[in-house]
Amino acid sequence: MSGPPRPRRPTTAALAPPPPAPDAPSSEPTPVPSKAKPLEKRPYLLDFFPLETADQTRLHRFFDRLREGRLSTTRCRRDGELHWPPRTACPRCRSDDLEWVDLPDRGHVYAFSAVLAGAPLGMEDDIPFAVGLVDLEGVPLRIFGRIEGRPWASLRIGEPVRTESYDIGGGRVFYRFRTVE
Ligand SMILES: [Zn+2]
Repeated sequence: MSGPPRPRRPTTAALAPPPPAPDAPSSEPTPVPSKAKPLEKRPYLLDFFPLETADQTRLHRFFDRLREGRLSTTRCRRDGELHWPPRTACPRCRSDDLEWVDLPDRGHVYAFSAVLAGAPLGMEDDIPFAVGLVDLEGVPLRIFGRIEGRPWASLRIGEPVRTESYDIGGGRVFYRFRTVE
């Protein structure tokens, strides 16, 4: 039910110069640390999508598979729990003995809405667009994502959709849904 996998990212705080001690003697002027950060360091907080490579996330296999057009997730080998989003340890039994399984590529719209303003970075030119919750066929998973294929105003609850992967630039991919006629 929750959103796309959001691997933790290293904070840039450790790279910042230490702040001047507030009670330091002021005999010598303290150099003011530059507040400018390298361009590639910002604005990562506004980057809607996860980082995807093996050195960035332990869930990189999710994205490797997505590049092959396969939406997948993890399943616990101990208790069979199917996770969404994919995990590195089972939230039910805490085992890290997990396997990757492909998810069905068909589902039905459970609920949807439209983004009419305030789109995330990089999606400003896409509005209006539909987002929604989709019940995947045959598995107890209801997952969130964009819904393409028809204008949002003509979407219907229960509408059949299929999953697809798409290029979001910068060598990254993500999943979304598309209506099927
Ligand atoms: Zn488990």
